Amino acid sequence: MKVLIKQEECILCGNCSATCPKVFILVPGESSKITKEYMGKNDSEGEIDESLVDCVQSAIDSCPVEIISLE
Ligand code: SF4
Repeated sequence: MKVLIKQEECILCGNCSATCPKVFILVPGESSKITKEYMGKNDSEGEIDESLVDCVQSAIDSCPVEIISLE
């Protein structure tokens, strides 16, 4: 499954990386990014398997500006 972050709208709150640190990392002054382990073609796009869906869904629910999605 694919995880997408609309990085240009990230307000750097850190909720996603605190909730699901396996998949999200906050880079101060930049944005939230997908960790190297799960990165797709760039750091705004990740590839995860079923075992991480709950983790990513919690991060989605924690994002105050609703810019994380799963497809
Ligand atoms: S929860 Fe949303 S706004 Fe906060 S750091 Fe993550 S992507 Fe950015």
